[in-house]
Amino acid sequence: MSNIIHRSLLSTPAIAETAHGMYFTDKQGNTFLDACGGAAVSCLGHAHPDVLAAMHAQIDKLAYAHTSFFTNEPSEELADFLAKAAPPGLDKVYFVSGGSEAVEGALKFARQYFVEIGQPERTVFVARRQSYHGNTLGALAVGGNEWRRRQFAPLLIDVGRVSPCYEYRDRRADESRDQYTQRLLAELDAKFQEIGPEKVIAFVAETVVGATAGALTPTPGYFKGVRELCDRYGILFIADEVMCGMGRTGTLFAIEQENVAPDLVTIAKGLGGGYQPIGAFMASSRMVEAIRSGSGLFQHGHTYIGHPVACAAALAVQKTIERDGLLAAVRENGAYFKAGLDERLGASPFVGDVRGRGLFLGVELVRDRADKTPFDPSLRLHARVKAQAMKNGLMVYPMGGTIDGRLGDHVLLAPPFIATKEDLDRIADLLAVSIGQAIEAAMEG
Ligand code: PLP
Repeated sequence: MSNIIHRSLLSTPAIAETAHGMYFTDKQGNTFLDACGGAAVSCLGHAHPDVLAAMHAQIDKLAYAHTSFFTNEPSEELADFLAKAAPPGLDKVYFVSGGSEAVEGALKFARQYFVEIGQPERTVFVARRQSYHGNTLGALAVGGNEWRRRQFAPLLIDVGRVSPCYEYRDRRADESRDQYTQRLLAELDAKFQEIGPEKVIAFVAETVVGATAGALTPTPGYFKGVRELCDRYGILFIADEVMCGMGRTGTLFAIEQENVAPDLVTIAKGLGGGYQPIGAFMASSRMVEAIRSGSGLFQHGHTYIGHPVACAAALAVQKTIERDGLLAAVRENGAYFKAGLDERLGASPFVGDVRGRGLFLGVELVRDRADKTPFDPSLRLHARVKAQAMKNGLMVYPMGGTIDGRLGDHVLLAPPFIATKEDLDRIADLLAVSIGQAIEAAMEG
């Protein structure tokens, strides 16, 4: 019996023994093709020699230095790298150890900014249903995923809630894409009015929704409209790119493809590619200058911020992506992968939608394709697909509650950027077989 409080207390997962490139091997010698990078983390695959070398070198030189005493070279260099690559104005970085910490930091930074510029009445965040922003209390509060929030709800701050941009389900038959987008923006405006726009700190949204709904891309003009609304009322826009950022959608920041710049952006998983725990939020110079000329101190901090080995690993990951032209590979292979999934799954009566951007794709499963009826949630189809895929040697990231936190099933795919076309073909083949087997077993009861 393991002494670890595992994610499920009912079972202990297999022991991962080694991982190289696209494959894991467990203690029993079984191999698994990694089609999801864990949770969209392992962008360079496993045991990349350049990243390992950078980490070894950094450990030998300086393994740790508390940031109240020192800064360190890898963190300074990584901040410079990110500042150069980020959308205009976003050039200051705060390094943490993961996505939830990045979101918490961004929320607090936004609040402190308004206190410092003399708008302390701004106390409310607005965010979307079916979003996930992390599991710490602040991040969980802004997140809109019902089953994750339910039992902790009494501990969470109140957050204004609006609809996600979920065209497959929510665009009405009599609506154009543009009309749907305008309807969503009108809803956001109405929410700001209901709260009082002068009380709102920020609108928080994942640029491309990941875990909760399976690679939901924004409609054209949605984030441009969000930016305009926020600007109208002096509200900040926080883009959560913990999952969709760092090249996963084919550009380093997913929001680049929307042609707008947020005031704050959070990044994590693909930043360090799993080689070390690292996340960050980036803020506009304007906000940093306001705090510098006010109290001069962001009232925050964790023991491991700016960790030199984590920053060295992330720097090596990012430089490797740049050197090897992997963003272009994500765009090209992403399109190839999507076409492969469409080909193998497009005719299935149980696949409602194949969506996403770059190497960040989602497959939504339905009982009836014509009217988009989801499977009975008691079947836990998503869990069956995951288990069946593992049996077939494939790692994917399925989730239930796609539609409203209870109904719906999807499979999230986020293979490493080093995946070859042959790898992607194999993933699509194994996934199609696994989905078929899981649905057959679920229907048999
Ligand atoms: N934000 C988004 C969009 C995420 O997808 C996640 C994790 O899945 C988080 C925040 C939380 O990140 P972490 O699990 O590293 O704390």
